[in-house]
Amino acid sequence: MDEQTRQDLLKLFESKLNQAMRLYLETCSRCGVCTQACHVYASMPQAKYIAAYRAEIVRRIYKKYFKKQGELMPSLGESKSLTDMALTELYEAAYSCTGCRRCMVYCPFGIDTQMIMSIAKLLLVGAHAEPEILTMLADTSIAKGESLDIFREGFLASVKNLEAQVVEKWKAEAGETVIPVDKEGADLLYVALAGAHSIIPAAAVFNAAKENWTLSFFEAVNFGAFVGDPSRTKLILNRIVGEALRLKVKEVCICECGTAFRVMKQLSGKQPFKVSSVTEVHARYLREGRIKLDKSRNPEPVTYHDPCQIARNAGIIDEPRYILKHLVQDYRELAPEPIYNWCCGGGGGLVALGEDTLDFRMKSAKVKAEQIKKTGAKTVCTACENCHTQLSDLSAHYQLGTEVKFLTSMVADSLVK
Ligand code: SF4
Ligand code: SF4
Repeated sequence: MDEQTRQDLLKLFESKLNQAMRLYLETCSRCGVCTQACHVYASMPQAKYIAAYRAEIVRRIYKKYFKKQGELMPSLGESKSLTDMALTELYEAAYSCTGCRRCMVYCPFGIDTQMIMSIAKLLLVGAHAEPEILTMLADTSIAKGESLDIFREGFLASVKNLEAQVVEKWKAEAGETVIPVDKEGADLLYVALAGAHSIIPAAAVFNAAKENWTLSFFEAVNFGAFVGDPSRTKLILNRIVGEALRLKVKEVCICECGTAFRVMKQLSGKQPFKVSSVTEVHARYLREGRIKLDKSRNPEPVTYHDPCQIARNAGIIDEPRYILKHLVQDYRELAPEPIYNWCCGGGGGLVALGEDTLDFRMKSAKVKAEQIKKTGAKTVCTACENCHTQLSDLSAHYQLGTEVKFLTSMVADSLVK
């Protein structure tokens, strides 16, 4: 690595050094409490998969360039130069961490390894050493925001096709405009993922609840966040913020995508609309008596996987359970306390990397598969697309015999007409 590149990367490193980050980088007592907390280590016990070990790779570079001790006495400070070799280590650390933050809830100092890994990801982006496909997907999302007119007609035509499917299955609830788009003055803007599975059941529930809603032109997923690029993350997010402001909605409801929800909730700043997950919205409809569910349609044992970005990292824990109380006859918890639930093993962009990460995802989530098996559930439902894909892969790989469903689909399929 040439000196100019190193200096550029160190500037990126420095941009991440707020007070919290410095605390995370300077506090670890090496107590080892986080060791067993990481699903990767618990499934594949190798030192490189210990949370504190991953963090140490970043910490040593921090000591070398941002602490006097590392500059003057590198061996004492256990510091490390930023080299191509270091970048390889950073890649392995960052892309074997799903950002689930289970280690953080066990750490006595609350050290956030996911945040430390965000430095690693940013350095990789700066060195053009990140998984290229994630940046390409992020750029495609940004381009859509910049040239919406090109996409508009095609999008509206595909929505028309979906409307027919909603009417066919949920005639009574369909209402006049089955899937409203670009409706100024709507109360709620629903941001879905690309694909019928994310739009059709949600439309059925909104219409059943007589919601004044409109569908976003944009897909919720934020590849900028997966790749750890703050600039791209913001540009992708801003498309939705701009649309919500233009339509003057009171609420932005994010579909079943954990990262999209956390990014929208935590990074959109002070806005004249509130941000909700679709799970929160459904729980509200039930509480207000706007929808009713028929439990008898779900007599078999069901468990719920809390997506890390929605539960542990954004606090949505009670709402899915409130829905499930009205939705299924035999509900079984995965973990005694949801905040300590194992990660599915697919977050942090790993599912988005598809087949390339499949072997690692299956091996590193062995403990998750065992946790599901122990419940005896026939169905695992969840509220995140990444988790759904990963849990489906796990079910097939470990022959769990469980069907994986989206919570929204179960709600839609159990609506009392
Ligand atoms: S639990 Fe916290 S303090 Fe202990 S080794 Fe892990 S990161 Fe360091
Ligand atoms: S955030 Fe999750 S995957 Fe990453 S080190 Fe911590 S427990 Fe492991």
